[in-house]
Amino acid sequence: LSNHVSIVMYHYVRELENSRYPNIKGLDYGMFKEQISFLSTNFNIITMEELIAAYDESYNLPEKSVLLTFDDGYIDHFNYVFPLLNELNIQGSFFPPGKTLVENVLLDVNKIHFILASADISTLMNALFDELNYYRHEGYDLLDNEELFKMHAKGTRFDSKEVIFFKRILQTVLPENLRNQISSRIFAKYVGLSESKFSRELYLNHDQLRCMKKCGMYIGIHGYDHYRLANMEKNGAHLDIARALDTLGDLVDSSNWVMCYPYGSANEDVIEILKNSNCRLALTTEVKIADIKRDSCYMLPRLDTNDFLPKSYNYEKYL
Ligand SMILES: [Zn+2]
Repeated sequence: LSNHVSIVMYHYVRELENSRYPNIKGLDYGMFKEQISFLSTNFNIITMEELIAAYDESYNLPEKSVLLTFDDGYIDHFNYVFPLLNELNIQGSFFPPGKTLVENVLLDVNKIHFILASADISTLMNALFDELNYYRHEGYDLLDNEELFKMHAKGTRFDSKEVIFFKRILQTVLPENLRNQISSRIFAKYVGLSESKFSRELYLNHDQLRCMKKCGMYIGIHGYDHYRLANMEKNGAHLDIARALDTLGDLVDSSNWVMCYPYGSANEDVIEILKNSNCRLALTTEVKIADIKRDSCYMLPRLDTNDFLPKSYNYEKYL
């Protein structure tokens, strides 16, 4: 018996070398296969229903429990992840944002990933500074480039400070309309493809998800607009979640469902909304092994795929 479960977070899973964007920050399919083989040999891979039941105390977690979660509704999850898991009789839990199912647009976060995979960071930093200079000239009241860099360039365990700066400026620092304009202009210049066609190739659709669900995969909620919910007014966060539930329709049981916070962003207001909307569990991006006796069911931490073999032994630090 155990109180612990390692919830593993995945994003892109694809044959990187043979893809158009070999530099995208994703997990190569070969490595994914190795990792699934490692996890199924050394851990007990549980289902989302079992984790919900463990919180209800109607199921005992086995030793070394692992739950597999896939964020952002990428087509990779249908092309690579689903066939392998289905063959091995393993459940994955998938969290597509509502917007990517019904609008042919790219999420900002993905626009930025493919920009970063299409040119080197120093070129892109210059392009971003040029854009900021341009919009300052157009009358936008923005701090100067050096000052912005000093405030927002802070490296993380996966990205350099330049990459973090580029992402933060275009994901949170600038006002939303300005962010969108600048990232679309840089996307057009360095990626050079139509956003709507690109989005249709990038994301899962409703039929694919229905097929995955029918074969035992779990589908949950990842917001509609993929916003940081903790930065929103309570009413706006509520609308975003309700809209996501509505868009996912029959893929999700609105009387018993699981939330995965975009960017792991949550606060008391958001949790209150979930409690009042029959949400059972919610996943963050805090890096830790979850403990069902200690962690709130609305604040479940996760580990990253990069924390496990064949990428690293980092998970051992969290045991
Ligand atoms: Zn996400």
